[in-house]
Amino acid sequence: MNMNIPFSPPHIDDAIIAEVVAVLRSGWITTGPKTRQFEQMITDYVGIHDVVCVNSASAGLELALRWFGIGEGDEVIVPAYTYTATAEVVLHCGARPVLVDVNDDFLIDPEKVRKAITPRTKAILPVDIVGLPCDYKELFEIVNDTNIQKMFQPSNELQKSLGRILILADAAHSLGASYLGRKIGAWADITVFSFHAVKNLTTAEGGAICLHLPDSFYERQGTSSQDIKNELKVKSLHGQSKDAFAKTKAGGWRYDVVNAGYKCNMTDVAAAMGVVELARYDEMILPRRKQIFDAYNQAFANDKRFRVPTYENAEKTSSYHVYTLRINQISETDRDNIIQKLADQGIATNVHFIPLPMLTVYKSLNYKIEDYPNAYRQYACEISLPVYYDLTDEQVQTVIRAMKEAVSEIRPL
Ligand SMILES: *Cc1c(COP(=O)(O)O)cnc(C)c1O
Repeated sequence: MNMNIPFSPPHIDDAIIAEVVAVLRSGWITTGPKTRQFEQMITDYVGIHDVVCVNSASAGLELALRWFGIGEGDEVIVPAYTYTATAEVVLHCGARPVLVDVNDDFLIDPEKVRKAITPRTKAILPVDIVGLPCDYKELFEIVNDTNIQKMFQPSNELQKSLGRILILADAAHSLGASYLGRKIGAWADITVFSFHAVKNLTTAEGGAICLHLPDSFYERQGTSSQDIKNELKVKSLHGQSKDAFAKTKAGGWRYDVVNAGYKCNMTDVAAAMGVVELARYDEMILPRRKQIFDAYNQAFANDKRFRVPTYENAEKTSSYHVYTLRINQISETDRDNIIQKLADQGIATNVHFIPLPMLTVYKSLNYKIEDYPNAYRQYACEISLPVYYDLTDEQVQTVIRAMKEAVSEIRPL
């Protein structure tokens, strides 16, 4: 029987359609008032001062790395267990991604980060995998450690003003997650969210850069968070001193170009979706995702063939992005067979993620999966289950039943 349960379709309803149509009819469809409204909403939601929206998280991460002056000869520490976007932006800048292994919670291991630091390290790019926050407290203790600070070799004024390694968080999965009572976005120096179509909150494509640099940085630079926000905004739009919206005002034609910028601004059509989604995110989207996580946990936690993910503890609350079920004592081939058995019934599952050293581009750069044994161990037995707002309780039970059946055929109770 075909159940037809997709993995992660977007939730599109009349409220989103109405807001998008309103922008389409407004006479202004690219970066303008809706994007500015969405930025303000994210600012308030996260509890920081400044946010810049862009057209993807990848663009946001790269913009942040380039703003900080990261380039040839520099090293950036990245987990081996992530999506390629996290490391590819480092490659784009001409710097070297230094991959480190993860813990059993899929998150970058702070002790391995400490050991990977060299005088060339300019940034750490931790990833809140599937929505669970990284150990930011430990990561900040590391970059603020006097000996590690002494090792830091700044190569421009920004790096000198920070005086230590930058923590740039890849929070593509973790909008709404919190750690030690503070929301993600208000932990790392700079945090980047993704609004890609499969993420918790989507604008089809999109991203946001959250600024949370220390006060000492702004004091030494003689700037403010608002200044950095404006600089990033200009850099996301050709380095042009005025955006197209300001230029269309009668008489507002003159502009300057202050640097060779990029083209990665968010459109108002996209922002319209985000404005609707964020307004109801905590009341509607996150609670439903949590219910689905809880149902999966209830079904799998007491069955010793399975290992359930951590998504809440005394320190951390996840954004419930992806439910990463692990199956004990199976091979990678068994895992693949289980996924196929579910697919044959029309149930889409997934694997998050294939560790970077297993992908052709990273292999060709000489990264070896043998150096990241825990990343491989987690990957080989992991299956991500469907989680999305429109998934019904009945469908959740169907997924559970099919999963248990498929595993029984390989590992009887
Ligand atoms: C989706 C994703 C990204 C990239 O987001 P885009 O908005 O598509 O650029 C980055 N990192 C991780 C871990 C992701 O899953």
